[in-house]
Amino acid sequence: MSFTLAIVGRPNVGKSTLFNRLVGKKLALVDNQPGVTRDLREGDARLGHLKFTVIDTAGLEEATDESLQGRMRKLTERAVGMADVCLFVIDARVGVTPADHVFADILRKRSAHVILAANKAEGRAGEAGLFEAYELGLGEPLRLSAEHGEGMGELIEVLDPLA
Ligand code: GDP
Ligand code: MG
Repeated sequence: MSFTLAIVGRPNVGKSTLFNRLVGKKLALVDNQPGVTRDLREGDARLGHLKFTVIDTAGLEEATDESLQGRMRKLTERAVGMADVCLFVIDARVGVTPADHVFADILRKRSAHVILAANKAEGRAGEAGLFEAYELGLGEPLRLSAEHGEGMGELIEVLDPLA
């Protein structure tokens, strides 16, 4: 039995960078697969000994008539519906923003299992943001650097029971 992980969060926090790291070089661009729109990318992830399906929520950056908040909500709810567990990513360098609170509320209502991650936490620049993340009320944040591959061991530990 494997599981599906949805990576959610506001634009620019590093979701796609993490997705690409988990899926690897052979980027599983599933945009052409039936049933998968370009707003959600699905790939086969490998992380240590774990193999699972990962979903990246994208398309939030595109300009449309609909408000960002409306699109965020719809996409996130769709991803959550497809996933066993959600990795909610914030930017540790920026800290917690109003948009992050919107996501936290959606996830609290819709997802049975949320893992909070403070990304861009390499070096010391993310320390204040990491601490701020506790205010989201989603437990202890994982300290990640998707770009530098830091925190992957801790991510394995929290995902391992789901495998
Ligand atoms: P998304 O909009 O949430 O999918 O974010 P992206 O993955 O597109 O990343 C947004 C920006 O943050 C890009 O310039 C990335 O290179 C950068 N980024 C992603 N992960 C990290 C990280 O761990 N550390 C730092 N410093 N930058 C990162
Ligand atoms: Mg992205």
